[in-house]
Amino acid sequence: MPKLKYRRVLLKLSGEALAGNEQYGIDPGTVSSICREIISARELGAEIALVIGGGNIFRGVSASSKGMDRASADYMGMLATVMNALAVQDVLEKMNADTRVMSAISMHEVAEPYIRRRALRHLEKKRIVICAAGTGNPFFTTDTAAALRAMELKSDIILKATKVDGVFDRDPVTNPDAVKYDSLTYIDVLSRRLQVMDAAAVSLCMDNCMPVAVFNLFHRDNIIRVLQGEQIGTIVQG
Ligand code: UDP
Repeated sequence: MPKLKYRRVLLKLSGEALAGNEQYGIDPGTVSSICREIISARELGAEIALVIGGGNIFRGVSASSKGMDRASADYMGMLATVMNALAVQDVLEKMNADTRVMSAISMHEVAEPYIRRRALRHLEKKRIVICAAGTGNPFFTTDTAAALRAMELKSDIILKATKVDGVFDRDPVTNPDAVKYDSLTYIDVLSRRLQVMDAAAVSLCMDNCMPVAVFNLFHRDNIIRVLQGEQIGTIVQG
């Protein structure tokens, strides 16, 4: 097996990815196949932190557009990410991986509080760190949480796992002739409003030169291939 180009990685999993073909909730089969990929990467020596979204259960913006107070709705969204984190932890542990859920909102009975130095120690010990509750602040997203945690935990790259093969000039699901970009700069993403991560997250990555690999999570061994430096999907960097 070739060596890893990126050793410490922050994998952003959207809530949607956990739902599989469903619109809502957690699909056990899908979560198991994602966890198998994560464990294979760890077995090759990768140090892995996950940031998990919550859109498969609750999104603050959607609820606030129907009249709910935005901050309260966002806290509900953050709680949704904790449920997803516990589901992923359960499956990873059944596969004998050592894991820790660290929450940005204190809830001692279910998760450790997120403490940067402690998270670093877990990574050094090859535990999979599952970051829950986003940034802990309303009006943010888990994409921004992923950028923030990647910086704090000194990750080599952010892996933005999606259901499509990378970043396209148009939505590839509705436009069969959409063209995939192999690489993009942060400015390209921001100025063309490409759907990679929200603008706050992209800006944070740009300011700190954090590369982002966007790739299809549902093709076998893709996480490992990205970590080995293979050109799949789209890479966003300076
Ligand atoms: N959220 C938040 N602050 C954060 C991260 C998330 O308020 O730092 C809330 C927000 O309401 C968001 C929800 O949690 O809609 C779920 O996160 P997100 O939409 O990023 O999940 P994903 O799209 O990745 O599934």
